[in-house]
Amino acid sequence: MNEKKYSSFDVTMNSAGVLTVTLDVPQRPMNVFTVEVIDELDHIITDIESRRDVKLVVFCSDKESGFLAGADVRAIANIAGPSQAGRLIDAGQQLFHRIDHLRVPTLAVIHGPCLGGGLEWSLACDYRIARDNSSTKIGLPEIKLGLIPGWGGTQRLPRQIGLTQSLKMILQGKPVSAHTAAKIGLIDRAISPDDWEDGVRHFISEVLHSRYRRDTPMRQSINRWLQLSRIGSSLIIRATRRKVKHHEHQYPALSAAVRAVESGLQKQGAGYVTERSEFVKLLATATCRNLLNLFFARESARDIKTWATRDRADVHSHEIRRIGVIGAGAMGAGIGQFAATHGYEVSMREVDDSAAQYGRERVEKLMKKYAERNRLSLSARSELNQRIAVASNDDAIVLSDLVIEAAVERLEIKQEIFQHLDALVAPDCILATNTSSLSVEKIAEKTKRPERVAGLHFFNPVHRMELVEVVRGSRTNNDTITRLVAFVRSLGKTPIVTKDSPGFLVNRVLFPYLGEAVLMYNEGYAPADIDRELRHFGMPMGPLQLIDQVGVDIAMHVAGSLGDVLVGLDPVVDVLSGMVEEGELGKKAGCGFYRYRDGKAMPRSDQTTVPMTVLDVNDRFMADGLNMIQRRLVYPMLAESVRCKEQEVVRDDWMIDLAMVLATGFAPHRGGPLRVIDSIGARVVYENMLQLQMIHGVRMSPPETLASMADKGSRFFVREGSIDSSEKEMPSN
Ligand code: NAD
Repeated sequence: MNEKKYSSFDVTMNSAGVLTVTLDVPQRPMNVFTVEVIDELDHIITDIESRRDVKLVVFCSDKESGFLAGADVRAIANIAGPSQAGRLIDAGQQLFHRIDHLRVPTLAVIHGPCLGGGLEWSLACDYRIARDNSSTKIGLPEIKLGLIPGWGGTQRLPRQIGLTQSLKMILQGKPVSAHTAAKIGLIDRAISPDDWEDGVRHFISEVLHSRYRRDTPMRQSINRWLQLSRIGSSLIIRATRRKVKHHEHQYPALSAAVRAVESGLQKQGAGYVTERSEFVKLLATATCRNLLNLFFARESARDIKTWATRDRADVHSHEIRRIGVIGAGAMGAGIGQFAATHGYEVSMREVDDSAAQYGRERVEKLMKKYAERNRLSLSARSELNQRIAVASNDDAIVLSDLVIEAAVERLEIKQEIFQHLDALVAPDCILATNTSSLSVEKIAEKTKRPERVAGLHFFNPVHRMELVEVVRGSRTNNDTITRLVAFVRSLGKTPIVTKDSPGFLVNRVLFPYLGEAVLMYNEGYAPADIDRELRHFGMPMGPLQLIDQVGVDIAMHVAGSLGDVLVGLDPVVDVLSGMVEEGELGKKAGCGFYRYRDGKAMPRSDQTTVPMTVLDVNDRFMADGLNMIQRRLVYPMLAESVRCKEQEVVRDDWMIDLAMVLATGFAPHRGGPLRVIDSIGARVVYENMLQLQMIHGVRMSPPETLASMADKGSRFFVREGSIDSSEKEMPSN
């Protein structure tokens, strides 16, 4: 029987008294909580509260894309002020409180993403079951937006799975699989996809007939009880406080989450009040605004409409299905393996049989790790392995729709490969190069299809790095760019289209920073001191540790290729090439700026260092919240970002910030280099750069745009409402 009509819900009752509430938010690819959805769910709960014929309520989703991805982030960002935020939190908390206290049992049936408000909703239910496949992701990711769960997540999760696990989930924001969720007691049962419908029916029948008993292992129950006891919880909370202390000034949500959890342990009602007030306060922080802006920038970059042009004259609808990869080294193997795991047929070519064999082993190793991470069955593994082959001939490459070249970084070799491929593959096949430093135009010039040649710059390691630079050569056509962007999206990665200029965007902006660190090292500063100050700025690792990780030889190579766009690189190249001659290639050689033992970095005993002065002893600088070391390293990166804007390396300003955060981990809480300039103020950055220029020379000279912005007092992004936005620069979704 179909009951009352709702726009986002379908409510049906069967003869056994099972009321199924199915969510399907119209015109959304994924279910999210909007004010309207909350309102309708409120009506449904009111109806259930008044009925006596319901024996069990089942909440589920009608969308194959998943259960519920959380609250509508756009709506959160548009909250006008604290009182509106408070009302939104109250509405959700009260609704879930009523679900929690329904007279009849409730069950959440989960598949796909069940995140944020989705998990908070299901935590208010008596039972939870989930489909056990790789698309099911259950978690509370609010911390990634600089927020905490506001609808009871900080209160119900600790009671459900204990304090240690729940703090980990809340503070890291990482979702868990259905398998893990069942193991830690977050859900009652993980059901195999092959048995999904029967499994759900069976569970419902067990609950209806009171045959289901939650079977928590004795050790788990005792452990949980100990964690929630007064002494246990205070020890865990104290240890967690110590852990988050170093990051709390950058990410205030960390300590706010701990306060909300702790307050709920002391007195349950009080916990909800703390959760609410902490959420409202966090929403107004700069960290939250910056993380929200990055969230929207990422959404825009992942939206094909951002990149597709209105000029569709040259559009070619040929779908990319078969990928060719030239070179099965570090990058080629990574790209090939990743494409195969995303459904593509991949053919790789190496120079000879022994290189092909070596490449095969690389791919197999990556596949094995992937299969273990995703707990693939033997049949799934073998199916996957059949999708990729490495050979020393062109037989399979001929059939490719897209060939990605990842051979050695030498122009004449790449030109030769492209000339050969041009004659080999179908005319509409796209030829892409993974080069980090060579000109796409020069590579394309050896082909008769320069309009179908582009750069596709993946970062290392391929499976972990989300950003891919799609490089438009001077003759690359729009169709090629659109198809490559779509390909990058199909891999679950984020594309940024850049101009074909040295270093593209990321390496060009990063290198002035890395180079300055190398010069400081050469002046006698200890790598550990330099790296520590940059971690304090918010980088995931310091610049010298990063060079060691990437390889001193690779850094030298990239530095050498940037001479046309960056000033003052010669001394940097000299230091790096001296290290390369000594075999100090970084982590892979066991020695670089650090010495490595069992993969762990330690200071080199053969270096004499000068004491580090991080304090601003020089009162010529205007206050910008940075110390001398941070300023000397970060400002060159800020200046290069502005030069990339001036030279239109990318189309919009937000693309610079997003790319630097995704590819280099540039302090996300600061929002990216251009937002750092906005927050310090263009005038201050400009004046300080003039001082740096006087001390260190022309490489520190401020870009022209900064001078004019300082003059006019202007910003890159317009501040408006609770978040920064600019219609041109931040297209809405
Ligand atoms: P690599 O040396 O590990 O691998 C290169 C592979 O190409 C080797 O296995 C080699 O045998 C093979 N090769 C050489 N000539 C060939 C030919 N004519 N036909 C087929 N195979 C050939 O190098 P890598 O680190 O994987 O780099 C590959 C490309 O990716 C370079 O252009 C590099 O600049 C770029 N890149 C590297 C990184 C990185 O961190 N390693 C990051 C981004 C981009």
